[in-house]
Amino acid sequence: MTRRHLIKAGLAATGAALIAGDSDAGARPPVSAAMAPPPPPGAPSAGPSPSASASPSPSPMDALTRPVFTLSEYRKIVPGPAFPDNAVALTIDDGPHPAWTPQVLRLLERFGVPAMFCLIGNQVLGHEPVARDIVAAGHQVANHTWSHPASIANMPPDRVQQEIDRAQEKIHDTTGHTPAIFRSPGGAVSPAVFAAAAHSRMVPVNWSDDPRDWTRPGVQAITNRLLAARPGQILLCHDGGGDRSQTCTALKTVIPALQARGLQFVALGG
Ligand SMILES: [Zn+2]
Repeated sequence: MTRRHLIKAGLAATGAALIAGDSDAGARPPVSAAMAPPPPPGAPSAGPSPSASASPSPSPMDALTRPVFTLSEYRKIVPGPAFPDNAVALTIDDGPHPAWTPQVLRLLERFGVPAMFCLIGNQVLGHEPVARDIVAAGHQVANHTWSHPASIANMPPDRVQQEIDRAQEKIHDTTGHTPAIFRSPGGAVSPAVFAAAAHSRMVPVNWSDDPRDWTRPGVQAITNRLLAARPGQILLCHDGGGDRSQTCTALKTVIPALQARGLQFVALGG
């Protein structure tokens, strides 16, 4: 599938929420597309910047100089119904994984919790049924790059775009969904990362709270950190990148405990 095909697929998947004049979106020069702000689903946008030119610098995109860290920040960028006052969002990174992802899915199903899975393209490769199970269970999928480069903030724009495009294409081809959210590896950002995410019509979303479960600090450490969650936060856990048994064990107690405290897990949307 070519990039143009992919962009058109993305437009189709995102539906009427897209920019005015989207019929030419596939042909729009990449640089002007990169300068457009990510289209907020559900709201029309002004379309391509009238000031778009061959120059990659000053642009409306400059307004997006930081990722989203909280639910309220997300809602300011992506219009929609206000999140409940007691809402938290759970995001699960680095899968899909054939052992850990199914365990996480069973937990989420047991407690009726939606989550956003930030998928690595080269992990979708070879684990396609697991990726499809995530979507079939009603969860969201986000783009977490093709190969999870730790140095993404130092990569040139074309390589950043390739990382995003390749993952976007694989996720779309596998699940039928085109992610509208980008989760950068390690949360690392740069002007090139913001531009590439916008070019692919994604909002960069980081997190409010990181229990560092990927370092395997012990079930109790992960549990304690997650139990400190407060309304409006975006929580981070992992179902890939190594042995995630501690994460799975922690979530078994954390999810019902947070629910018992009155917190409501919500889907970010997109
Ligand atoms: Zn990651």
